[in-house]
Amino acid sequence: MQWSHHISAVISLAARMTPPWKVFWLAGLVATACLPLVSRFGLRDSWFFLIAILSVSAIWLGIWRQRPQPCQPWLQFAVAISAQCLGGLIEANTDASGHFGLQLSLADVCLLTGHLALVRSLWQLACQQHPQFPRHGFFQGWILATSLMLIGWQFLFLPTILHHGFSLDRPQIFRMLYPSLSFIELGMLLWLWTSSNAYASRVFLQLCLAILFFAIGECVFHGTSNSLAVPHDINLMCWLIGYVSFGSVALHPDIAQLGHPRASEDDRHAHHILTMLLPLALLFPVALLLRYFQALHPATIGILLGFFIIFIIGWYQLSTTLQNIIEVKQQLEQQNRTDYLTGIPNRNYLEQVVESSMYSTRVLPHSMNAMLLMDIDGFKAFNNIFGFGLGDLILKAVAKRLHHNSQAQGYHFARVDGDEFIVLMLNVPEKAIVEQQAWHIHQLLEQPFIVNGLTAKVSCSIGISMADSFTKHAFSNMQRESERALLRAKENQSQVECYQAIRDKPADKSWIISEFREAIHARQIVVYYQPKVHLQTQTVIGVEALVRWQHPLRGLIMPGEFVPHIENTDLIHTLFKLVLHESTRQWQLWHQQQLDLTIAVNVTARDLMNFDLVKEVAQALEKHAMPANHIEVEITESSALADPRRVKKLLSDLIALGIKISIDDYGTGYSSLLYLQQLSLHYLKIDQQFIREMHHDASSLAIVCSTLELAKNLHIEVIAEGIHAAVSVQQLKALGCYGAQGFLFSEPVPASDIPATIRRIESACYDIES
Ligand code: C2E
Ligand code: MG
Ligand code: MG
Repeated sequence: MQWSHHISAVISLAARMTPPWKVFWLAGLVATACLPLVSRFGLRDSWFFLIAILSVSAIWLGIWRQRPQPCQPWLQFAVAISAQCLGGLIEANTDASGHFGLQLSLADVCLLTGHLALVRSLWQLACQQHPQFPRHGFFQGWILATSLMLIGWQFLFLPTILHHGFSLDRPQIFRMLYPSLSFIELGMLLWLWTSSNAYASRVFLQLCLAILFFAIGECVFHGTSNSLAVPHDINLMCWLIGYVSFGSVALHPDIAQLGHPRASEDDRHAHHILTMLLPLALLFPVALLLRYFQALHPATIGILLGFFIIFIIGWYQLSTTLQNIIEVKQQLEQQNRTDYLTGIPNRNYLEQVVESSMYSTRVLPHSMNAMLLMDIDGFKAFNNIFGFGLGDLILKAVAKRLHHNSQAQGYHFARVDGDEFIVLMLNVPEKAIVEQQAWHIHQLLEQPFIVNGLTAKVSCSIGISMADSFTKHAFSNMQRESERALLRAKENQSQVECYQAIRDKPADKSWIISEFREAIHARQIVVYYQPKVHLQTQTVIGVEALVRWQHPLRGLIMPGEFVPHIENTDLIHTLFKLVLHESTRQWQLWHQQQLDLTIAVNVTARDLMNFDLVKEVAQALEKHAMPANHIEVEITESSALADPRRVKKLLSDLIALGIKISIDDYGTGYSSLLYLQQLSLHYLKIDQQFIREMHHDASSLAIVCSTLELAKNLHIEVIAEGIHAAVSVQQLKALGCYGAQGFLFSEPVPASDIPATIRRIESACYDIES
């Protein structure tokens, strides 16, 4: 009892230390080495088939347990070796002398099937590396097969024909056919070598060994038929080494890698192939020469020698050129993976990391991959104010700091867009580590940067997404999810957010487009107005027309929910006409009530592409007898940049009519004020985000101040959006801001509420915070 316990403990320890494929292989080799000994007891065939059948069982067992995907080539592989074993078994137990033709023996059928299935399985494995079909690999494989066949012809088949005379004898034909098929298998191996991801792995080496020893076995077997004095045990041993190597391949844990495409082309490898193939291609003529050497004329020998020397020099030249090309290509690839501005890796690098990790066998169980998408807060505004030169320096400093951090922690890091960076964390055991890392990055950036003698404080928002494993689809999904999480982090000002499918998945908004047209007819689309206040006199100077959708079932829908969805359809044009018509009509009504207001309407980038816009505005004004200087058009920075020439033309036509132009949400887009000034605008509305933060965040205040300064010099009036607090009114007044708009004064209200709202605003006191 005690003994068996000890023995099983030793076995399990050995199993843990030595992988099964190695145990099987070593045991198989020892058993093979015992063959000559066993032969003395007359048990040679039994011993041979025992090992062969055990190897075949190991192949089936290995494939069944590991189920490498796709499975088909591996099933063919198992069938191939089984058929060869069966063929051998039948051959050994029958008298197989016969004639070629209809009397194809059962053993031949099995052996032939075995060889062809092996060729096919290797072919399929090599073919799995779409989309780069390695045509060159295919031809290299055939060069190898043909060279080997020519050598085989010289040293195997020709002597056979000379020895036995040429006949279509079954033994003769088949003895020639099997080594030929083995040569083709070796050629296929070379093809697999050029294409598979596992070309340098142990499992590939085992496969090479197996096929090589099978081929040697076939050749030796053929040689024995030419009265080559080789003991029969030798070719049996070669076959056995082949069998046990095949068995160990199937038991190897990396077996699936053989069918995986190469992540990127390794060119050093191409060089090795060239070095291997050219001498091979030379082998046949050398063999010929050696055979007929005595009969050759000395002059012919001289010419041939000269040819060989030129050939070798040419080959040397070719291989050095190839080497140079490879070096240049590697440099280009390196550049392609590097970000031009910061010198750290770029998106291409990340894609490569993902591709190679898709096929990695080093995936820890229960681990996950995380993507941290990081964006610097307010960087666009920073660029606008301080210029791109300083912006670039900040980006470089941020990239350098975070790159060091990622290198130290073993994560991948890249700059993927303007101020966006990605940290890729592979094989992380738990979510908490990812979140910790995100906060760590956040803290790292909080330490100030000193560039060009200026101290800059940078903060960032991070969106996190996670996946159990990588596929191409999973990676792009993760990118999308981390973008959504980042958006939420920005909206909530929470700095770090993890993607949550239920919360962040975009809801289906297809109903918007289908119901919007109907909504217009049903008069569900209504216009609200929000007053704009002159800061020094506290009088209402105008209103902004803001659309709302009074949905019978869904309630009041805000424009942010439906405008972006109709923006790319012609419905946006319908909406513009509706708001324009409604505002001009409303102006006429207010005018009749002695209320003289300016009305601002919002236009989108798509509206600016409409050639009829100016005509439509002019007609609406005329219809309601509204003076053009009482209407204002608000465009966002990015739409002003969509097609600058066309926009400039359109805006100057509007200005010619007497209409005022306003830049909306200033500071959130990618433009500089100097550039916008060329469009001759009248007002600039600083985005709410800066106004909201200016009383507690120095960088927001700096942006507001410098925008005011610049606008003053360019004679543009500034309106502050999103005023919530009286303290902001004080600050803006002191800074000389022209106007303000925000919930502090009034939310957007229906037209009927405007007279009362104006009275309330003009009589209220906003000097002290209430
Ligand atoms: P916008 O042109 O920048 O309009 C200002 C937005 O800020 C309005 O949101 C307004 O309600 C909101 N707002 C004003 N003061 C405050 C404040 O103190 N605090 C906060 N939190 N928000 C404030 P709304 O009405 O939801 O409109 C959102 C956006 O939808 C508008 O941004 C505009 O770009 C677009 N939009 C609205 N109406 C129209 C329209 O008729 N046509 C087009 N093309 N776009 C429109
Ligand atoms: Mg607006
Ligand atoms: Mg705005």
